[in-house]
Amino acid sequence: MRLGPAAESAVRQGHPWVYTDRIKEQNRAGNAGELAVIYDRQDRFLALGLYDPDSAIGLRILHVGKPVTVTPDWWRERLRASRERRRGLFDDQTTGYRWIHGENDGWPGLVLDRYEQTVVLKLYSTVWLSRLTELVPMLFAEFHPDRLILRLSRNIQEAAAKAGLGDGFEAVAPGPEAGDVRFVTATADPVIVFQESGLRFEAEVVRGQKTGFYLDQRENRRRVETYAAGRDVLNAFSFSGGFSLYAARGGARSLTDLDISAHALASAKRNVALNLDQARITGCRHESVQADCFDWLATGPRREFDLIILDPPSLARREHERAGAIQAYGKLAASGIGRLRPGGILLSASCSAHVTEGEFFGVVRDTARRSGRHHSELCTTRHAPDHPATFPEAWYLKAIYLQF
Ligand code: SAH
Repeated sequence: MRLGPAAESAVRQGHPWVYTDRIKEQNRAGNAGELAVIYDRQDRFLALGLYDPDSAIGLRILHVGKPVTVTPDWWRERLRASRERRRGLFDDQTTGYRWIHGENDGWPGLVLDRYEQTVVLKLYSTVWLSRLTELVPMLFAEFHPDRLILRLSRNIQEAAAKAGLGDGFEAVAPGPEAGDVRFVTATADPVIVFQESGLRFEAEVVRGQKTGFYLDQRENRRRVETYAAGRDVLNAFSFSGGFSLYAARGGARSLTDLDISAHALASAKRNVALNLDQARITGCRHESVQADCFDWLATGPRREFDLIILDPPSLARREHERAGAIQAYGKLAASGIGRLRPGGILLSASCSAHVTEGEFFGVVRDTARRSGRHHSELCTTRHAPDHPATFPEAWYLKAIYLQF
């Protein structure tokens, strides 16, 4: 393949995506997941990628620089590098974390999360479908899980079905040889109990959001624990109550989980029940409210809190939703600030990749200023270390802490 000049220099500088309309020449049609070799303007080897005819990103870069021979050992080395990058990050108190974070670890469109002895392989691109029989035995050999669950993002489920694969399938009889692996529908919905910072949580690995848990918020949850002592805490968009359990262990006086989903709130209750051996968690009042957070925060019962966590789902899934999302973040922050007692802390988080860090922090800071309340900024945070970001589009998660 040959690329347009801008795409060529982006690839040279390490950007992992080439949009289809930037591919200027290819010597033949290809299949999803085939290796594509890119030559530069001087006809020298530039890079190697996975061809992705089903996506607007037509090529996902694997390697840039000198020519390489792609062998099973080359792939294995890549798996080891991902594992090595996480060496020393977690002790035995944390058994749920990300082993492979897509292009940031050299595996474009592929995520591997660990929950105890189960790993969840989540694919966001069809490029891996034809490589699973080779890849899955390697994953067993390198990471030694008891079981492997396959999850598929919505946009690739149709293509996967044609290959006999479905969301939530489980690998069976993985032998050492490529080709030994088969995928079958997981019989029951496996709920894995794992630990994060010594707290027990369940992950619904087959049907749950993402791969079953929001592993990317771990560092923020740890920080919330240090701010929680003696506070009445509102966990808005609580999902399975991750932030709440840390707040309880940090000595919160009361916890209110607020989510639109009864299923999420039930999971949060079970997670509290899993940790009742910890005195502070037993001693903390816990309540669930099923409601739309936007409505409840703006017009719900007049209640105030000392720590409010706002961690909504992505509010801009597409570029054209960006402006609306920024506005919505402002509205949420304004309602949150309106419910904070003096000295109260607001944690406002955004996982919208289309909203930049500058835009997000900007709207939250403006909203705080406009509230007219005296406040100070405690800190801002970015990605957890098992979710490294190596190119601009990868910086999706950002959070800001303000005290009033
Ligand atoms: N903070 C969580 C992750 C939040 S995921 C954690 O650390 O684990 C987003 C959650 O928001 C989901 O549970 C979803 O059910 C909920 N949600 C989505 N839209 C909502 C709305 N308008 N009001 C309330 N909850 C909503």
